[in-house]
Amino acid sequence: MKICCATHNAGKIRELSGALAEHGVTLIAQDAFGVAPAVEDGLTFVENALIKARHAAAASGLPALADDSGLEVDALGGRPGLHSARFAGDHADDPQNRAALLAALAGVPESERGARFYCVLVYIRHARDPRPLIADGLWEGRILTAERGTGGFGYDPVFYVPTHNCAAAELDPEQKRALSHRGQALRAMSRLLGTRP
Ligand code: IMP
Repeated sequence: MKICCATHNAGKIRELSGALAEHGVTLIAQDAFGVAPAVEDGLTFVENALIKARHAAAASGLPALADDSGLEVDALGGRPGLHSARFAGDHADDPQNRAALLAALAGVPESERGARFYCVLVYIRHARDPRPLIADGLWEGRILTAERGTGGFGYDPVFYVPTHNCAAAELDPEQKRALSHRGQALRAMSRLLGTRP
């Protein structure tokens, strides 16, 4: 079965493809259909993932899979949340976002630096599917006071993983997949795809 994947990120597509291969799924990036990015104006992660999936299904004529994710920081009342990719401004890159986060938490003690990554995956059989499959995952941790490690992407160098006493950027990709919000959502989605008609 071919599924259109609503992401431009080759790394994410590789990760998703690996986990879904057992269902005979081939993921095709929406770029292959010349699809412009969707306008993500939902108020929740799940709305944004659904918007992206619907957009990809409509443009490709295929079933579609989309993800949306972000970082929730307790001391910032849940920010950056939906706006994680642009915490430091509309065109901010990962290092700028991390620097802005460390600055926003300057002086905040370790006990108040709790945070979590969230990821939701949405699968629809067609653009007007009234019964989307939805799977999500949460990964609990804390925000460090300085960067550690060189792996991963986004906020990984400032996200401390208490269960492994290291930053997410110090985990190897397989360990990260086993623990992360995206890995959890992916395994849950894989189960749904295998059991739902
Ligand atoms: P999106 O789901 O690609 O829009 O990701 C939103 C933003 O959340 C990313 O740009 C990252 O800054 C952050 N993010 C999501 N997942 C991760 C992760 O696994 N590690 C680090 N940052 C992440």
